[in-house]
Amino acid sequence: MMNVCKDDASILIIYTGGTIGMIENPETGSLEAFNFEHLEEHVPELKNLGYKISSIQFDPPMDSSEMGPDSWMKVVHVIAEHYHDYDGFVVLHGTDTMAFTASALSFMLENLSKPVILTGSQLPIGMLRTDGKENLITAIEIAAAHDGDSPVIQEVCIFFENDLMRGNRTSKTSADNFNAFHSYNYPVLAHAGISIHYNLPHIYRSKLKKPLKPHYTFDNNIAILKLFPGMSPLVVENLLKTPQLKGVVMETFGSGNAPSS
Ligand code: ASP
Repeated sequence: MMNVCKDDASILIIYTGGTIGMIENPETGSLEAFNFEHLEEHVPELKNLGYKISSIQFDPPMDSSEMGPDSWMKVVHVIAEHYHDYDGFVVLHGTDTMAFTASALSFMLENLSKPVILTGSQLPIGMLRTDGKENLITAIEIAAAHDGDSPVIQEVCIFFENDLMRGNRTSKTSADNFNAFHSYNYPVLAHAGISIHYNLPHIYRSKLKKPLKPHYTFDNNIAILKLFPGMSPLVVENLLKTPQLKGVVMETFGSGNAPSS
């Protein structure tokens, strides 16, 4: 499908932290988070898009290893508060836990009918070979894409390198490659080459047109238990004795096998 971008689209960028928002301090050589109020100074190409772009940043920006339910709630709160003022949302996030945040947001934003696109980068935006500019610009274009009156994307996604992926099907697979994310159990939703090709049959379309219902409650009394050959039963016993534990997700072998001991 042709990517039809709404000329007057308004996009809100939410910068949570991570490598993408870093620039090198020319005096000290160290990497510092840049002020998103001056986004156009660092990415002048944004002017050529012709959209109304605003930004909000976490203060202080967070490495994504620090993100969890409280910071997901902050993002959801910003989206819910500005839901009617913007056509789409681009969330800039560190790559390490981006897939977890995308997954959480997809469940927290019930009845979402606008694009929420997460992206980041492997190299800071202020570096010569950065992947940050392309990721940011394409994520904005995707967030602005319309098909008649409705946004092409109406769900939480990750855009990275060339692919748009469903947020709750995506994993980070590389700390070195620009191509750092994969969607194993669902086809990619769009591929960005010379133009952006949308995989329409696999893109979610909200039919109910109900108002957005943000969710803010989480229960973190859960654990993941990854089995490995030779694992001590004591480790399992102790994990299961954790006070208030309500559920355990077991990563087992093959199609669900585990040692009988
Ligand atoms: N440590 C960073 C983070 O996840 C890495 C990155 O942004 O890619 O926040």
